[in-house]
Amino acid sequence: MPIYEYLCKQCNTVFQFLVRHPSKDTLPVCPRCDNKNMERVMSSFSFGSSHSSTGDGLEDDPSLAGLDEEDPKAMAKAIRRMADELGEDLGSEVSEALSRLEAGEDPEKIERDLEESGFGMDDSAPSHDGGLYEA
Ligand SMILES: [Zn+2]
Repeated sequence: MPIYEYLCKQCNTVFQFLVRHPSKDTLPVCPRCDNKNMERVMSSFSFGSSHSSTGDGLEDDPSLAGLDEEDPKAMAKAIRRMADELGEDLGSEVSEALSRLEAGEDPEKIERDLEESGFGMDDSAPSHDGGLYEA
């Protein structure tokens, strides 16, 4: 049975729904605020193989398996590749940060700069609800 993720923009939370009969008309209702306008989201870092309820851990992604996190250049490359495969626009801040990573700059400094520019775990990043609901 497929599990889809839907974003409720009202509470800025992503919920996982078990969809018994997937169709375009299947639209779940937010378990938290009864919002009926939830948005289907593509699970960025999981491709259906192992659906854990514990967030969107990068470690679970098979394409990142064996990746050396101590190697910023490899990380930058992997992030670009993933964004590419997902057809996602990284945005100018992230693109610039990746370029700096690839140029060998200190990852911690880059991260600080990113946070200062307002990027990161701010209000635009939805949280993930750990539960599983039925659509
Ligand atoms: Zn909601």
